[in-house]
Formats: sequence, C-alpha cells, structure tokens
Amino acid sequence: MDGRTFFRAFRGGGGGKNGMSELVRLTEVTKVYQGGITGALNGVSLIVEKGEFTAIMGPSGSGKSTLLNLVAGLDRPTSGSVAVGGTDLGKLGESGLARFRRDNIGFVFQFFYLLPNLTSLENVLIPAQLKGSDATARARELLGKLGIQDIADRFPARLSGGQQQRVAIARALINSPTLLLADEPTGALDTHTGDQVMELLGQLNRDGQTILLVTHDAKLATRHAARVISVMDGKIVDDARLESPERAASEVIRVRSEEASR
Ligand code: ADP
Repeated sequence: MDGRTFFRAFRGGGGGKNGMSELVRLTEVTKVYQGGITGALNGVSLIVEKGEFTAIMGPSGSGKSTLLNLVAGLDRPTSGSVAVGGTDLGKLGESGLARFRRDNIGFVFQFFYLLPNLTSLENVLIPAQLKGSDATARARELLGKLGIQDIADRFPARLSGGQQQRVAIARALINSPTLLLADEPTGALDTHTGDQVMELLGQLNRDGQTILLVTHDAKLATRHAARVISVMDGKIVDDARLESPERAASEVIRVRSEEASR
C-alpha cells in the first residue's frame, strides 16, 4: 500500500486546519554554534498550530534540541526569526525572554532535573513561586491528573524514573504554559514506562495542551504524535500529519526517505 494514501499525510507545515491557529513560527532559521564547522540548523521554516502534538524526529546531532531550545527562548538563532504566540523572540531582551519562558513555556527534559532536597509537591511548585503565586491546590490537582498524588511528600531519591518524569511534567505544567516542550522525555526510561509517559502526554494533548516533542525514537513518535517532522543535518526533510490510529513507524520512515531522495 502506498504510504501517502495510507496516512493521508500532507506536508508543508501550517495551514490553519480545523479552525486551529498558529502558535509557533520559525522563518528561515539557521544556527551555527561558535567553533561549529557546519550549521546545527540550516534554514528551518515551520509553523506549529495551537493544539497540535508534534514530534520532531531525527538521528543524534541532526539539530532537534537546538530547534527546541530556540523555540523555548533558551538560545537565539544565528539568522532567521522565531515567533511564539505572535511574539518575535528576537525583539526581547534577556529579562523579556526570561518572562516569556516563565509565562509561556513548560520544559520537560530527559533526566528530569528535580531538586533532590525538595519533595515532589515542592518541586512542582517552583515555577509558580518564581511567578509569586500560591498554586498548591493546582499542584495537587496536577499530581492527581498524572496519577501520582500519593507521592506528593516524597523526595526524588525515593521515586522511580517514571514517577520522577511525571513530577517533572507536573512542574512544567504548573504555570499553564501555552506550549509544552519535551526533549527526549522517555530517553532515560524503560520501554514500558516510556510508553506510559507518552500516553500521558497524549492525554494532556487531547485535553488541549500544545506539545512539541523531540525524540530519536520513530516508534514512539508515530504511535503518539499526530504530526511527525523529520530533521536531518539541520533541515526538515519530512513533515507529515498522520491520520491513521495505527501508525507504523516504518511507513513514515519510508515516506521520509522518498522525500529526501527527490
Ligand atoms: P540533536 O538534538 O538532534 O542530537 P543537537 O541540536 O543537540 O542535535 O546538535 C546539532 C549539532 O550542533 C551537533 O553537531 C552538535 O554537536 C552541535 N551542538 C549542539 N549544541 C552545541 C553547543 N552548545 N556548542 C557547539 N555545538 C553544539
């Protein structure tokens, strides 16, 4: 069966389908790190709509984390522009960027980065405290939603990897970010736990959360995300919205390689 027909995938990014509206826009973005011989990103243009669950997939070193960091306002492009929610990040100074991150971005990392001397609940509350708001009730509600309300008073050292990642997800969501970014969130978890975490992200997306996720795992990307963008050598080589409930990774890889060989 033809991969394109099977998925009814369409490519090109953006398009304002089903009343969705644009949340992220990258325009001709390049990133060359100091001392880098080739660019980490080489002319990336991309639109992410509100409500999408997008996975950015590609081999190690292809530029996925760089892309995510630029969208998060953690780094700046060498050329081109990054806009989130209509704000051109290039126009913000350092304190403006910090405010932007606090108010708009939730970030989940591969290695959780929980503070060891704080309980789960206290870890979740950190971003809210930076904002000066008391969010204890919301933090408990989030822990409940993520199925870990019973470990609210435990310290990270007494949690499994999956529990730690759920705490990290709750922490990322405490300020109700417009955009949840996740960089290899299952990379430090076993397959089963990783699948559960992805399932949770899928549930959050069905509840309306826009998610942009980086992974090198084609199987996870295609099983859980509705849109899969493939990056290679700092360039987007495929952008597919998948409409089949049973998404086979091999099909997407095949579509991607067809695209790359054109
Ligand atoms: P991925 O997330 O796909 O593994 P990255 O975005 O981390 O890829 O890296 C893309 C390229 O940029 C790689 O060649 C990497 O070595 C380089 N790179 C990433 N971060 C830095 C940095 N801070 N300084 C210099 N080079 C970097």
